[in-house]
Amino acid sequence: MSKKISFVMKPGDNSYTFPGECVYCGDPNTIKLDCKHRSKKLISQHVEPLVKHLKYSTYSVKLLVPYCQDHFNVSKIAKPVLIIATVVGFLLGAVALNGLIGLLPEEMHESIIFVLFLTFCIGGSVLVQLLAKILATRFLHSSFRDVPILAWLVDNDLSRPHTLGMVVKINENHITFSFINRQIGEDFEKLNRKTLN
Ligand SMILES: [Zn+2]
Repeated sequence: MSKKISFVMKPGDNSYTFPGECVYCGDPNTIKLDCKHRSKKLISQHVEPLVKHLKYSTYSVKLLVPYCQDHFNVSKIAKPVLIIATVVGFLLGAVALNGLIGLLPEEMHESIIFVLFLTFCIGGSVLVQLLAKILATRFLHSSFRDVPILAWLVDNDLSRPHTLGMVVKINENHITFSFINRQIGEDFEKLNRKTLN
């Protein structure tokens, strides 16, 4: 069972301490994967007749995530593999959609084009990502099965790494860590308890 921990961040730089073991398998021989996240929160707004003044607080977090060599390699290649799969799926969907539109009567185009776009292009991306994950799990490394796919789509953030064994979600000044390895999650919670809210 996984372990989820949430923190309220302070404005500016935030950092969290990880246990000295691979966050996926618990191996003590680790190298660190550098991950950065940023977010902002609206703290005040002042509306004049023609202008709107908005003031934000920014929150940044730099994580040095420990991985064993094997799982470091998987974490490093997961993002490019899934991005390439997304692009390929989108293009295949677009080609198929283009072929289908040619077969439809012109008066139907406007009403269903958006639905078809979602079905073919987004659906194509999801399917090819899934296929890439299955193939990578089979031929590259078995731990690929735990790489979160579609993370960038759900969180609307392309810069987010597809971190193996750990999902980081940021919403304004809240940060949530979910660990697949419950023991690592509990150790992480103990190490960062003083900043836990
Ligand atoms: Zn490992």
